[in-house]
Amino acid sequence: MTPTSVKIPFVDLNYLHQPLQAQLKAAIENVIERGDFILGQAVSEFEQAFARASNVEYGVGVGSGTDAIALGLQACGIGSGDEVILPANTFIATLIGVLSTGATPILVDCDPNTALIDLEAASKAVTNKTKAIVPVHLYGQMVSPHQLLDFASTYNLLIFEDAAQAHLAQREGYTAGSVGIAAAYSFYPSKNLGAFGDAGILLTKDENVAKKVRSLRNYGAPRKYYHTEVGTNSRLDSLQAAVLNVKLPYLSQWNALRNQAAQQYDRQLQKLDSQGITAIANHSSTGHIYHLYVIRVRDRCSLNQEQILAGLATKGVQTGIHYPIPCHLQPAYTYLGYQVGDFPHAEALCQEIVSLPMYPGLSESQIEEVTTSLENLLTTAVIAG
Ligand SMILES: *Cc1c(COP(=O)(O)O)cnc(C)c1O
Repeated sequence: MTPTSVKIPFVDLNYLHQPLQAQLKAAIENVIERGDFILGQAVSEFEQAFARASNVEYGVGVGSGTDAIALGLQACGIGSGDEVILPANTFIATLIGVLSTGATPILVDCDPNTALIDLEAASKAVTNKTKAIVPVHLYGQMVSPHQLLDFASTYNLLIFEDAAQAHLAQREGYTAGSVGIAAAYSFYPSKNLGAFGDAGILLTKDENVAKKVRSLRNYGAPRKYYHTEVGTNSRLDSLQAAVLNVKLPYLSQWNALRNQAAQQYDRQLQKLDSQGITAIANHSSTGHIYHLYVIRVRDRCSLNQEQILAGLATKGVQTGIHYPIPCHLQPAYTYLGYQVGDFPHAEALCQEIVSLPMYPGLSESQIEEVTTSLENLLTTAVIAG
């Protein structure tokens, strides 16, 4: 296939960064002048600001979202011999974080309409070794806090939120990260709040968990050269924190723009439902922050996922699949013993989902062009029959 030039990119960060250039440069120069590159002033400022924005007491900046999960779970007392429930259809980092504590991951299926973890399936997976559940607020929509809290109290489990796609998402009066004992966030550049490299944070309402992650991220040393934990080196860089401090005040606005874009997609895609194109369901209204806007190409559609991806590419529309292979079928994790057929909804979604362009600044006419392109593909397919 000849490469077509991209007319509508999947993500475009220029809209966010262009107007902030002067502020970003000043913040970076500030760190250089102060010279506090490791755990400097910008880090504690950001930790406090992000925790406050999320209605959580403590924030501890770490090197990545993956480390926020790994160190956060470890600080919550999760380790070898414990079982931790998580969805099969998440980004692999959720699984990596759980495994790095030494705990046994117990994968469960998802609700095919929302792509969020199925708590009924989770109930069936609980054993007397289960210590925690890691709900993933996938695509920017929170797993129902009420249902999660019910589930956790029924089985006496910790809730540790993977909020890497859900910065400031809301549902049922809760902000992401404020439901469980602790939550992990990533500031990978393309997340809703992105740094200029790798970065992450652990939020927690528990002072001891916060203290422990502060120590774990810094060689397991509560004070210099005195090591009480088997720690590591995973700190949020002062330079990244300085960038995040500049961007954080705009996050709510950017999230709102994403939600508006999603509403327009929803309206315009409604008429394609009868042809087998269905958006992933939103049960949280404006609280969904749409890290990704994902549609399903159902069985009844005249085109399959691959044809939709290829067809949109020829029209200059960049797309993605999040994610094409569920965790339990990834080659590296066959040793966990899962098989094809274990999680039918997660597996089916992998063949159905297509992520459409989504970022703050995506214009109404661009969204129109994406949905019209999709509509034309389907019409052509039906005529070609
Ligand atoms: C991005 C992401 C992570 C990992 O974050 P990194 O900063 O890349 O380590 C974890 N979980 C989910 C759901 C993510 O989307």
